[in-house]
Amino acid sequence: MATASTPATGPTPAAGPVTWPRRPTKQIMVGKVPVGGGAPVTVQSMTITKTADVEATLEQIYALHAAGADIVRCTCNDRAAAEGLARIVPRSPVPLVADIHFHVEMALAALDAGVQCLRLNPGNLRKAEEIKLVARECRDRGVPVRIGVNAGSLDPRLYEKYGGATPDALVESAQIELALFAEVGFDDVKISVKASNVPLMIEAYRRLSEVTDHPLHLGVTEAGPPPAGTIKATAGIATLLAEGIGDTIRYSLTADPVEEAKAGRQLLEALGLRERKNVDLIACPSCGRAEIDVYKVAQEAMAAFEERKLPIQVAVMGCVVNGPGEAKSADLGIAAGKHRGHLFIRGHIVRVVPEDQMVSALVEEAERLVAEGIEARLAAADQGAEAEAEADRAALLDLRGDDANNSETRVELIDKRLEKPPDPQPPAE
Ligand code: SF4
Repeated sequence: MATASTPATGPTPAAGPVTWPRRPTKQIMVGKVPVGGGAPVTVQSMTITKTADVEATLEQIYALHAAGADIVRCTCNDRAAAEGLARIVPRSPVPLVADIHFHVEMALAALDAGVQCLRLNPGNLRKAEEIKLVARECRDRGVPVRIGVNAGSLDPRLYEKYGGATPDALVESAQIELALFAEVGFDDVKISVKASNVPLMIEAYRRLSEVTDHPLHLGVTEAGPPPAGTIKATAGIATLLAEGIGDTIRYSLTADPVEEAKAGRQLLEALGLRERKNVDLIACPSCGRAEIDVYKVAQEAMAAFEERKLPIQVAVMGCVVNGPGEAKSADLGIAAGKHRGHLFIRGHIVRVVPEDQMVSALVEEAERLVAEGIEARLAAADQGAEAEAEADRAALLDLRGDDANNSETRVELIDKRLEKPPDPQPPAE
């Protein structure tokens, strides 16, 4: 029987009973988006279009925004890109950061274009006078800078001093840049110390967080294609976020940047650091008791929910014997009975539907749940649904018994084997 639980009044919040204290940082404003100082952790990504191609770049910025990006970076590597930015900035739904690579003129041109933040790589722009010139311009225009240190393009002088791109070398690179900014009275700054090596990146950020209270931008650089790249980036970013370190994040994947924005958003939702925006789909791993192809139904449900912004947790469970009970904390779920789907809300069966309508019924109920609330949908439950579910459950138990995975038969086998005296060893030659 489905396990009863006290229904709550609304969908599950992203944050659960466990939260981590965040490291206090100063707050900067990237356009209208606050970074640090207790603001929600933000998601960033970067366009891969030619910035000079205004329409293509804007299309990508809109797609990134829809996928969860709060801030987007564009390359500003030549005059055409800077001119493109001037046309893109007023039409962008999110603040833009210009990556100016090696040229001081590009930093100034990006500021003229109206970007809301600059990214400076201390390994690329190295002349103190040029760095101070950019900092003065940013100070006067109220535009923040990300000091973007990268292990792969570390200033050779630091590489030599430390014998490689060590955590301390990355931190010192950021501190040198900060000191140059301080000479002209500028500290509207966030910092990143990225590396493609995850332990190096984690340690560099830990050390950096001990010596500065500027907001930190987290990332594992050149993480590579998914899924390995996503795992690598998650290992680095999630470890630090769980330690309270990090104010804004970027997944650097060799993939459509929309995947980066989605991954960033999903990570923050999973850690309870941002309110849930999309369905959190959970599914049982399936087992010998499953009455449906759980993988297939879960994939179909995932695809059906992809474009719908429903901030609830939805479960797909392979059987009605254990499904509703195991997933009773989900806002909504479906479990397979005897050729039927059992819809449940917080563990309570509310409707029984034909097997081929499981996904469509799940989507329909999810939309109504978000529109009407959990209590209203529980009150609208089909009379008799619980009894039908119980009948299916009893029939499945009769059919397969409690031991659908043959565990007890296997245990008996092991018992018999171990009771048997071991075979005598052949005599030594
Ligand atoms: S017992 Fe049912 S719900 Fe649990 S894993 Fe097996 S099929 Fe899924």
